[in-house]
Amino acid sequence: MARNPVQFQRGMSLAMFLQRYGSEEQCHEALISMRWPSGFVCPACAGCSHSYCKPRRLFQCSACGHQASVKAGTIFHRAKVPLTKWFLAIYLLAQSKNDISAMELMRQLGVRYDTAWLMKQKIMAAMLEANAAQKLDGDVQVDDSYLGGVRSGKGGRGSPNKVPFVAAVETRRDRPRRAQLRRLASFKETEVAQWAVIGVRRSANVVTDGFLPFEIFAKKGYHHNVVLAGSGRPKERTFHWVNTLLGNLKMSMTGTFHAIRRQHAHRYLAAFEWRFNHRFDLAGAIDALAQTLLTAKPAPYQCITFAEASG
Ligand SMILES: [Zn+2]
Repeated sequence: MARNPVQFQRGMSLAMFLQRYGSEEQCHEALISMRWPSGFVCPACAGCSHSYCKPRRLFQCSACGHQASVKAGTIFHRAKVPLTKWFLAIYLLAQSKNDISAMELMRQLGVRYDTAWLMKQKIMAAMLEANAAQKLDGDVQVDDSYLGGVRSGKGGRGSPNKVPFVAAVETRRDRPRRAQLRRLASFKETEVAQWAVIGVRRSANVVTDGFLPFEIFAKKGYHHNVVLAGSGRPKERTFHWVNTLLGNLKMSMTGTFHAIRRQHAHRYLAAFEWRFNHRFDLAGAIDALAQTLLTAKPAPYQCITFAEASG
C-alpha cells in the first residue's frame, strides 16, 4: 500500500531537536539570528554598531547607548521560564498531530500547571497571528460549523452555547493544500463577509452548500458555486476535504480536552489550522513558530484571562 508522504515524513526527531536547541545558549543564539538576521539593529536609533555583554546577554548600541536583549519587546520578555523550555513547548505543540493538553505540557516541561497553560495560550496566540496573514485561493470548499455542539447538519444553528466558526479548505487537483478555521461572532452575512474579504482572495472559486449567509460570496464578486443535496451533483465528494478537516478537528478536540471555553476557542482553532498548514514541513515548522513568537505582540496574562482556563 502506498504510504502517505505527509504522515510518514521524518519531521524533526527529539534527538535532533535537542541537538539544536538543547542549551539555553543555543536557544538564545537561535533567537538572535531570527530577530537580527543581518546583525544587531538598535531598537531605539536603528544603529548597527554595538558591543555585546555575553554574561548578561545584552547588546549595547554604540551610537545612543541603548541596551537591548533579544527577548525585549517579545513574548519571551520578562518570562522566568528558560528558553529551552519555551523551545520544547514549541516543539511539542508544533509536532503533535492532535495537540497536547496543558496538563501534558506541564509534565513534559516540568513546570507548574498555570505556567504550562499560559505558555500554551501564548504559543497559540502567536499561531493565530501568523494565520491572519494567510489568504486562500484557487478552489476553496467552505462550510459552517460549531464547537460545543453537534456538527452543523444542520439543526441547532445558533444555539447560545455553541461557538460558530467557518471551515475552508483550498484544494489543488483534488488534494487539500491549506485550510482556515476561523471563529465568527455569528453567521450573519456581515460577519461571513468580514472573514471572506480577509481570508479568501477574490480570484478564488468558492463552493458552499445553500446556507444563506454564504450568498455574500457572489455579492462580493467571488466565483461562487452552490451545491445542494439532491441537485444531481455528488455533495459528499464536493465537500470531501472540508468534511475530513472537520472530522479530524472534532476527533482531536474530544481526544485531548474535556471542554474548551468559548473565550479560548479561536486560539484552539488557530492551533489546529497552523499545524495543518505546516504539515508538509514539520522540521521547518519549529523555526517558523519560534520566529512567529518572536515577532508576535507580547500577550500579557490579563489578555488571556487565566481565570477562565481549561484544557
Ligand atoms: Zn541606538
